[in-house]
Amino acid sequence: MTQSSQRVFVLLGMPGVGKGTQAQMISQTYHLFHIDTGQTLRSEIASGSELGNTAKAYMEKGELVPFELVMEVIKSSMLRISPQQRGYLFDGFPRNLDQAEGLNKILKDLQLHIDAVIYLETPHEILMDRLAYRVTCYQCDAKYNLKLNPPKNDKHCDLCGGELVTRKDDRPEVIETRLKAYASETSPLIEYYEQQRLLRRVDANQSIEKVFQDIQQEVNQFFNSSDTMLV
Ligand code: AMP
Repeated sequence: MTQSSQRVFVLLGMPGVGKGTQAQMISQTYHLFHIDTGQTLRSEIASGSELGNTAKAYMEKGELVPFELVMEVIKSSMLRISPQQRGYLFDGFPRNLDQAEGLNKILKDLQLHIDAVIYLETPHEILMDRLAYRVTCYQCDAKYNLKLNPPKNDKHCDLCGGELVTRKDDRPEVIETRLKAYASETSPLIEYYEQQRLLRRVDANQSIEKVFQDIQQEVNQFFNSSDTMLV
């Protein structure tokens, strides 16, 4: 597959809206390379790298990590795409207009462009609940919700057996800061991508399966039916 036939999708939505879950399903179905900046930054922290150490202070406060660090993460992540993958799915990136412009530049250099921005919409109140009851696998970053989507065992991940923890930034006081960062920095992207006619709105306040079906309605048009593989 040549570079120019690679597809590029962005998954946009507030923290806790279910981007991670949908991103897994989308990337497996359409063979896309999933780039999750939050998860990548958490692995940098776990590995003790200099980048991780710098990012940590911002993340624990619920603030956005500085532009240069995020772009470094994106550029090095993008290089890891495999020849079998049909393009990129960005999850948690871009998070502000500067990052969106940064992404445009990278894509232009690769002769690529964004095909669609999937915007997962849901009311603010629901997100507080989703985040407050969220636990994350320390090992594989799988997410559960103790109320809505509980793991079989409270303490261990169903997928890999890793320990389930409440992320430091899922504490109520930090959640507020993250939602504020979203409102001031990330939400302008909705209009930005709408003006470029790239925005596809999906109601995220439905079952995981229904949300995914709605996403497929938007994404299928970019692939031949033989290209996809339902999981
Ligand atoms: P997430 O896992 O997407 O909720 O991200 C967790 C935290 O990582 C965020 O609250 C930010 O501190 C940081 N982060 C993730 N993605 C970005 C990004 N694109 N730009 C800046 N900071 C980010």
